Amino acid sequence: MDAYTVPTRYWHQLNDGRVQCDVCPRACKLHAGQRGLCFVRAREDDGIVLSTYGRSSGFCVDPVEKKPLNHFLPGSSIFSFGTAGCNLACRFCQNWDISKSKQIDTLADAASPEGIAEAARDLGCRSVAFTYNDPVIFMEYAMDVADACHDLGLRAVAVTAGYICPEPRAEFFGHLDAANVDLKGFTEDFYRHTCGAELGAVLETLQYLRHETDVWFELTTLLIPGLNDSDAELDAMTSWVVEQLGPDVPMHFTAFHPDFKLLDRPPTPPETLTGARRIALANGVRHVYTGNVHDPAGQSTFCPGCGTRVIERDWYELGAYDLDDSGRCRACGTQTPGVFDGPAGGWGPVRRPVVLGRVGEGER
Ligand code: SF4
Repeated sequence: MDAYTVPTRYWHQLNDGRVQCDVCPRACKLHAGQRGLCFVRAREDDGIVLSTYGRSSGFCVDPVEKKPLNHFLPGSSIFSFGTAGCNLACRFCQNWDISKSKQIDTLADAASPEGIAEAARDLGCRSVAFTYNDPVIFMEYAMDVADACHDLGLRAVAVTAGYICPEPRAEFFGHLDAANVDLKGFTEDFYRHTCGAELGAVLETLQYLRHETDVWFELTTLLIPGLNDSDAELDAMTSWVVEQLGPDVPMHFTAFHPDFKLLDRPPTPPETLTGARRIALANGVRHVYTGNVHDPAGQSTFCPGCGTRVIERDWYELGAYDLDDSGRCRACGTQTPGVFDGPAGGWGPVRRPVVLGRVGEGER
């Protein structure tokens, strides 16, 4: 084992000599020397190891709205990083250079959990995000980073597809404060053929988060013309969200641009996003947002009590802000659901790459 390889505990031996990984429902069954579909978990001796502990594909300070999270410390900056690999196989992946990487070169930056938390604090971030690729596959590293963040008073956020088995799910989310979960579509056919995953397992994760944890979470659906954007599918999806998760889980409908293996589809027309928002609102979802377009009406937050626009937002930029420090409407006092702690941050729309070793040498 090298310095970046650690043992894991969610696996079991099969009678035929293979070892099965039990982290995600893909259940890779590995012979000696093989790696799982995610590429970063691999068989070593009679167990499964994580081979990317403490290595990152790069660091950025982002607006929290870019995760996207619109009800979690609005306006604050979030220290963001990912590793390599992914446990899904989305043909439309927008981060495929990272998620499909099998090159250790992608993991150029070494970073201890404590080093990441200290850099985030020194850069004025209120939280750290595991993003760019799915943290489920590097959960041991992500959980240690989350613990180091908590030691310094920072919060930890996962951007994930939620494709994870029940036992590791409980451990993983037990370390987190917030998540943005991709709900990639609402048919098993789409999940199976376009993402290489199962819708049912993702819906279980959403119900688990809503009913058995205090993790704040929001949902994101990338709408791809002709694949997952029909009115019927959006009606079924948003009805399910309200019935099973309640009306207060925010939904984000974001615009697709042709990428990776899905180059034959056009970009999402803005009208598709506003149409999806209309369907969700009609079905009772209280906070629905459009993304990857300029649409101040579809990106602002409105008080669920009196309808006042309480957070003006255009893409990642906040304007007028009419919530008190705990998230209550200044006009009527109604609480906006989410995590609010003080005034809105002033980070703005900037995305700022960070070289970890240089934090403290003019990076602040
Ligand atoms: S986490 Fe990786 S190795 Fe484990 S089952 Fe999922 S894809 Fe396979």
